[in-house]
Amino acid sequence: MNRQLIGIPVSPGVAIAKALVLHAEDFTIPEKKITQDDVPKEIARFEDALTKTRQALIAIRKKIADEIGAEHSDIFNAHLLILEDRTLIEDVIGEVKTKCINVEAAFSHVIQKYYNAFHAIDDEYLRERVSDVRDIGRRVLHNLLGRERAVLIDLAEPTIVVAHDISPTDTAAMDKEKVVAFATEIGGPTSHTAIMARSLGIPAVVGVDVLTHMVKTGDLVAIDGSHGLVIVEPDQKKIEELLHERERYDEFTHGLERLRDLPAETKDKKRIVLQANIEIPDEIPSVIAQGAEGIGLYRTEFFYMNRTDLPTEDEQYQAYRYVAEQMKNHSVVIRTIDFGGDKFLSSIDLPYETNPFLGWRAIRFCLARVDIFKTQLRAILRASAHGKIKVMFPMISNLNEMRRACQIVAEAKAELKVKNMPFDEKIPVGAMIEIPSAALISDKLAQESDFFSIGTNDLIQYSLAVDRINEKIAYLYEPTHPAILRMIQQIVENAHKNKIEVAVCGEMSSDMALALLLIGFGVDELSMSPFVVPKVKKLVRSVTMKQARDIAAEAMHYETGAEIRQFADSQVKKVAPELMA
Ligand code: PEP
Ligand code: MG
Repeated sequence: MNRQLIGIPVSPGVAIAKALVLHAEDFTIPEKKITQDDVPKEIARFEDALTKTRQALIAIRKKIADEIGAEHSDIFNAHLLILEDRTLIEDVIGEVKTKCINVEAAFSHVIQKYYNAFHAIDDEYLRERVSDVRDIGRRVLHNLLGRERAVLIDLAEPTIVVAHDISPTDTAAMDKEKVVAFATEIGGPTSHTAIMARSLGIPAVVGVDVLTHMVKTGDLVAIDGSHGLVIVEPDQKKIEELLHERERYDEFTHGLERLRDLPAETKDKKRIVLQANIEIPDEIPSVIAQGAEGIGLYRTEFFYMNRTDLPTEDEQYQAYRYVAEQMKNHSVVIRTIDFGGDKFLSSIDLPYETNPFLGWRAIRFCLARVDIFKTQLRAILRASAHGKIKVMFPMISNLNEMRRACQIVAEAKAELKVKNMPFDEKIPVGAMIEIPSAALISDKLAQESDFFSIGTNDLIQYSLAVDRINEKIAYLYEPTHPAILRMIQQIVENAHKNKIEVAVCGEMSSDMALALLLIGFGVDELSMSPFVVPKVKKLVRSVTMKQARDIAAEAMHYETGAEIRQFADSQVKKVAPELMA
C-alpha cells in the first residue's frame, strides 16, 4: 500500500488508473481470428518480417565486425540461428493454419514457449540465450507490426503507461483517448515522453529508478505530475488527498480558460505571439481550444512513423493543407523531417550508428536523400496555397546546409510551376538554431533566413554536452546555464539586426521562469505544447516589457545556472504568484 517512488516532474496534473507495464507486455499481442483464405497472406507477412529481420541483423553484424572486430559480432550469429530455426518457423505457420489466428499472435505464443523453455534450463550458458530469444522476438514483432507495440493500440480502459522508456513510435501508435498518464525510468524534461505528455495534457513523471520492477500490469497507480510522484496501490486516504490535488489543479486550469480570447500582450501592450507545437494533425482541436495563435513547430517526422512505406506527396499535401486551413490566418511553421537521434522509421533503413544524436539525421539526411526531401517540400509548397505556411530546416550547422536546402526549395518550386500547381512564391524559409555552431554564426545565417526558431532542447543538449534523455545527468541539463542564456541573447540580437523575427520552439517556452527571461531578451514568438499556452498567456499579461527586460538583464548578473533559476522563479512568484503554485 502507498509505495511512493520519486522521479522528475515533467507534465503537471494527477491521474489514478490501472498500470500497463510495457516491457512485460511485449509479447502479449491481441489475438484476431482470420479466415482460411487469409492464411497464405499471413504466412507471406511472416516470411517478409523474417527476411527484414535477417537483413537488419546481417547489416548490424557486418558493421560491428568492420568497426570493432569479428569476435564482437558473434552474438548476432546466435540471433540468426534462432531466426532460421525451422521448428520455430513451422510451429508458427502451424498455429496460423490450425487455429486460424493472426501471425503476430501465433508468433508471440511460440516465442513465449521458447522463452520459457530457455528460462527453465539449468545451464548458465543456455539460460543466457533467453535474452537472445527476447531480442529476436521483439525484432520480428516490430517488423510485423510496423514497429508499434500492439498493446498500446487497443486499450479497454483508462490506463497509465509505465515503461523503461516510451519511444516516439509507441506514442504515435497509442490509443490517446485511453492513456491518462505516463511514468518512465529514463528521460528528462525534454525527452520525447515529456514533450508528448504535455502536448496531450496528461500528467507524466520520468526518471523513476527501478519503476518497472516496482509496478505490475493491473496495479492501481497514481501519478502526481506536478510533484514527480508515482504511488503504487494508494490507500483510500492517499486517493482522497490526490483527488483534492486534482481538483485544485483543474480549478487553476479552468481559471485560465477565460484568457482564451484575450490577446497575449504585456501590460504595456507589446504582443508576444504564442503558438503551439504539434506532432500530428489530430492535435489541432486542442491548439484551437487553448487559444494558440498558429503552429510554431509541426514535427512532421511523425507522419513517417508506424508505417512500412513512405508517405506520398499527395498524402502529405492533404495533411499540411488541413493544418493550414484549420489555422486560418495564423501561421504554421512546418519543420522538414527530423529523424535519426531517437526517432526511427520502418520505411527507411537508417544505418546503425554508435552516436545517433551526432549522426546522419535531420537536414543531413535530407540533403543526402533529395528524393525524399523534395517530395516533402513539394507537398509543403502545394499546401502553402491554402494558408500561411512557413518552412523550417532542423539541425542546421553551417551556411552551406542552409544554402543547399534553399536551392532544393527553388528546384521544388520550379517543378510545381511546370505542372501549373499553385503555391506561395514568397513562402518564408527559416533555420532552426539548435546547434552551437549555428548560434555562433547566427549573424551570417540571419542574412540567408526569413526567420529563426531556437530549438532550445537540442541547443542545451549540444552546448552543455548533456544527453537530453539521460536521467543520470539530468541535473546538468540547465536551461539557465549562463552559456545558454548568452547564446540566446546573441541569436536574438543577430536576428533583429537583420530584421528577421525569432521564435523559441524548445521546451524553455513552457517553463514560466524561462519564458519570462525569453520575453525579456526580446524573443518575438514562443511556441509550446498547446496546454501550456494559457499559462504563458497569463504570464505575458502580468508584466510590462520594461519589467521583463530588467529581470532578464538582472538575471545575467548571476554567475551560475542555479542562481539564475532561483532568481527567475522568484520573479515569477512576484508578478504572477498563482503560476508557481
Ligand atoms: C528542439 O530541439 O528544441 C526542438 C524543438 O526540436 P526537437 O525537440 O524535436 O528536437
Ligand atoms: Mg531539435
